[in-house]
Amino acid sequence: MTVNELSARLDSILREVPDKDFDKMCLMEDLCGVTREQMAIYPDKKLSEAAVNAAVKGARRRAAGYPLQYILGKWEFYGRSFKVGEGVLIPRPDTEALVDETIARLGRNKPHGILDLCSGSGCIAVTLAKELPESSVYAVELSPEAFPYLAENVRANGAEVKLLKGDVMNGALLENFRISEEEYLDIDCIVSNPPYLTDREMEELQQEVTFEPETALYGGTDGLKFYRVIACLWKELLKKDGLMIFEIGTEQAEDVKKILTDNGFTDIFTANDATGGIRVAGGYLR
Ligand code: GLN
Repeated sequence: MTVNELSARLDSILREVPDKDFDKMCLMEDLCGVTREQMAIYPDKKLSEAAVNAAVKGARRRAAGYPLQYILGKWEFYGRSFKVGEGVLIPRPDTEALVDETIARLGRNKPHGILDLCSGSGCIAVTLAKELPESSVYAVELSPEAFPYLAENVRANGAEVKLLKGDVMNGALLENFRISEEEYLDIDCIVSNPPYLTDREMEELQQEVTFEPETALYGGTDGLKFYRVIACLWKELLKKDGLMIFEIGTEQAEDVKKILTDNGFTDIFTANDATGGIRVAGGYLR
């Protein structure tokens, strides 16, 4: 089969998929090694049977609602590539707003101690470690399915991130950050994109999202369970004037601001994602 013939074949398989041209391009590039330029210049180039089969199989799964990112096995976040697959949440552009706000608030010109809770693929921890290379970055993840992706993404991106496997709901985990009876490691920023979907939202998931791990999505009945526990438990670790900053669901700003206030945080702020929704909330422990 030629490049052009495969392209036509994928068009027909993907016809119901919303971003079909983009998805086709990704499948051909990543599964057949045909770049966008080659597609235009060598439409009659013959493809191996293995390449054609891989692309056709990928397109069929995509047409059945399976996430493109899992088919490709990788996805880009903040200009870097992250390995993904079933068992780990796919990095989303929304989360880039959290990273932008964190970097803007911490500043690039001094070292920081940063702790990323519920790290998943590690997209936040890795990006912060690369963008703020003087800083010490720690990442905590519980899921045995997600943890290998985290470790691999740290390695493949050459990021310096110290990893800890454990449950952020368990206060005993803080002991890993203790350096003496009175003192913890220097942490001046706790950042997290915890699971935050509500019961109702879990029932109305977009088909693609149903393939992602529930443990990375579901934040308890009202979606706020992790914010309550992290704000209350992990603030213990923050240095004076430390920053706690969360990704939130666009409807959760008032609730998360209140949780932060109730836990003694001040100078509470929010920030928007690229689509204009309120996607970030945080505060300082003065
Ligand atoms: N942003 C994700 C979604 O809407 C949810 C991720 C999360 O719960 N942290 O599917």
